[in-house]
Amino acid sequence: MYKISVDKVLFKDIQFKKIHILEKETSKYWQKELLEPKIINDKIKYSIKQVDKLIITNGLGEEKPQLTIECEKVDYSNKKDIFEFHLGKILEQRNTDLADNYKDTLIEELLREKAQLEDTMNRDHLTGVYNRRKMENDLDMFVNQNNSSILSAIFVDADRFKGINDNFGHDAGDRTLVYLGQKLQKHAKILNGEVYRYGGEEFIILSFVPKSEILDKLDELRKDIKSHKIYHSTKDISISVSMGVSFYIECSSKDEMIKKADAGVYKAKNNGRDRIEFG
Ligand code: GH3
Ligand code: MG
Ligand code: MG
Repeated sequence: MYKISVDKVLFKDIQFKKIHILEKETSKYWQKELLEPKIINDKIKYSIKQVDKLIITNGLGEEKPQLTIECEKVDYSNKKDIFEFHLGKILEQRNTDLADNYKDTLIEELLREKAQLEDTMNRDHLTGVYNRRKMENDLDMFVNQNNSSILSAIFVDADRFKGINDNFGHDAGDRTLVYLGQKLQKHAKILNGEVYRYGGEEFIILSFVPKSEILDKLDELRKDIKSHKIYHSTKDISISVSMGVSFYIECSSKDEMIKKADAGVYKAKNNGRDRIEFG
């Protein structure tokens, strides 16, 4: 490995890959370093010594910019009478602006990847809405917020969903869940909250709207879900939902709030489905 000091311009050209060959005059020094004499058939032949890495510096000393770069080949150009170092990948940079920028970009990239991974872990892969894991984390946070006095849970259960699978097939059932997820996401915004797929054909909305407004808003959701059909080749599919509502302020814990909302669904089912009940 050789350490070669170059001027600032050449250093930048190497750093930004503007040049791929570093040329060195055939001085005594380089001839001695790079030429390996061999005697073949009584004649002296020279082969060129190969190196796998070069250190390129701009000036001398520890604080100076420095690149460690792969050397793909060392060659001799007859025409120009020079040695050629064919440069490959930059292996390391020290004390260069780019080294700092590179670190920043790398950190940004890692943070972005981490956020993407977290988002994937928090979402249900079929509907794209948040999953139960995310709901549990959010709920821990929501109950400690100062607006927890208006926190409510809305348990949403698709009506006679098994029938949809039985009559139209599992794929049509999946598409119906995607449809539900989209409608719920839209209305979760109106309800100042978030929607989560709790399991199977069950979703939960955690909402922050005053009790006096919630029934009207949920009735809009109920009607919106019923008003559209999901395309199917034999007969388009209709779906309705039963909902159970509970309020955090009326419960002793977050688990009790979910249980109460579930009890509301049970009531809604018993009272004929496609309706909203308090748990
Ligand atoms: P109810 O009105 O009483 O809620 O009746 P239901 O048929 O909706 O309830 P039940 O619990 O009997 O059936 C739920 C069905 O949901 C059964 C299950 O196969 C189906 N299901 C759960 N997850 C999925 C899914 O990811 N895709 C599809 N296609 N079906 C699912
Ligand atoms: Mg169910
Ligand atoms: Mg159901």
